[in-house]
Amino acid sequence: MIKFKLLILSLFILVSISTSAKDTQILIVTGGHDFDRELFFKMFDSFDAISYTELKHPEANLQLGQIDPTTYDAVVFYDMPKSISEAEKESYHKLLKLGKGLVFLHHSLASYQDWDEYVTIIGGKYHEEQNSPHSSTYQHNVTFPVMIKDSKNPVTKGIADFEILDEVYGNTEVLPKVTVLLTTNNPKSSAIIGWTHTKEKSRIVYIQPGHDYHSWTNPHYQQIVRQAIEFVSEK
Ligand SMILES: [Zn+2]
Repeated sequence: MIKFKLLILSLFILVSISTSAKDTQILIVTGGHDFDRELFFKMFDSFDAISYTELKHPEANLQLGQIDPTTYDAVVFYDMPKSISEAEKESYHKLLKLGKGLVFLHHSLASYQDWDEYVTIIGGKYHEEQNSPHSSTYQHNVTFPVMIKDSKNPVTKGIADFEILDEVYGNTEVLPKVTVLLTTNNPKSSAIIGWTHTKEKSRIVYIQPGHDYHSWTNPHYQQIVRQAIEFVSEK
């Protein structure tokens, strides 16, 4: 009987250790654009087996290069800073060299308008310049279909086409080499609204929706974000 109890106890300890050790650790970078913090982080709180630490601008970019890389698996960007220093760029080079997974959400497509290399990291660009053929556009409170381009991809597996109420971006740049994951047929939106690609050793995913709680509470959106984090975190 005692032996049996010991066995149960050790099994319990083993299971507890393995669950916490298996947790995917992510950094979430914020700053440069307003958002409802409470409801945004509520989505990440709901993800089983994903733990997060928030890094805020203006410190975030240098911190990204300083934090022990063995303590996290991926970085989620929900930020939109305007400028970046040469020292801060080094943090990004380090992430790519290490092969850290990167997930970019929504307005992060408009970050660092003058840093050309950023486009090659995220895989596209929201062009803020005005009165040019390249000018991107936005419109709030649009209900539009999100179409799954490849339901076998780890990011979109198990998800059928769905509708979402969010902000759309039009006339955005998407690099031709990305693998398209999500599209829409809404005329105010660019057709491609989600993709994945790799740069150096990093897996990278961009997901265009995510302006506010309408998306953060949408179970299909939540599943895409969670599966994107899991996919880019794989070694
Ligand atoms: Zn927005």
